[in-house]
Amino acid sequence: MNVIIFGPPGAGKGTQALNIAKKFYLNQVSTGDLLRDEVKNKTDIGKDIENIISNGDFATDEIVNELISKIVFDPQKKNKLIFDGYPRSLNQAKNLDVLLNKSNQKIDFIFFLNVKKDTIIKRIKKRSFLEKRADDNLSTILKRYDTYMETTKPVLDFYSKNPNFYEIDGDQKIHEISSKIEQILSV
Ligand code: AMP
Repeated sequence: MNVIIFGPPGAGKGTQALNIAKKFYLNQVSTGDLLRDEVKNKTDIGKDIENIISNGDFATDEIVNELISKIVFDPQKKNKLIFDGYPRSLNQAKNLDVLLNKSNQKIDFIFFLNVKKDTIIKRIKKRSFLEKRADDNLSTILKRYDTYMETTKPVLDFYSKNPNFYEIDGDQKIHEISSKIEQILSV
C-alpha cells in the first residue's frame, strides 16, 4: 500500500506519517528530511537548498523529483511508501503519477490534513521550544504558509477528485487524527 499525507506546514503530517509508517510497516518518505540530509552532507545541491529552506521558499521540482525517483524505484520499498510533505506542487503530483506508473505502483490512500492558520502558528511556535529548526521563526512560518497556499492548492484540487481522497480535520488532537486515519487504512 502507498499513502500520501499532505497539508499546510505545522498540520502534523510528520507525526502522523511516522505513526502510520510504524503501524503499517511503511517507509516514511519526507522530502523535507531528504532535503535537510543534502544540506547536512554538504552536497552540491545542499548548498543551494540551505538558503531556499531558511527563506521559507520551495526547493525546485527538479531537485525534489530526483530525490524521490531514487526511492520510488527502490525494490525494497516498493508498495510500502508513505509520502510526507510531497507532492507540494501540481508538477510534483503529476511527476509522481509518472514514476508510479513506470514502476507498476499506485497511490492507495490520500489524506489531506486540513488545519486552521491559527492552530498552525500556535503549534509551530510551541515546536520551536522543543527542537530548533532553522526555518521555525514566525515570519518564516507565515511565508511558508503563504507559499503552501499558492503552490499546493492545485495539488489539493488535483487529488480531491480521486476516490481514495480523505480530508481529515487537523484541528483535532493528535491521537484523534491518528485513530481516524488508522480506521480508514484498516478497512
Ligand atoms: P518540511 O519538513 O516538509 O516542513 O519541509 C521543510 C522545507 O523543505 C519546506 O519549507 C521547503 O522549503 C522544503 N521542501 C520540503 N518538501 C518539499 C517539496 N516537496 N517541494 C519543494 N520544497 C520542499
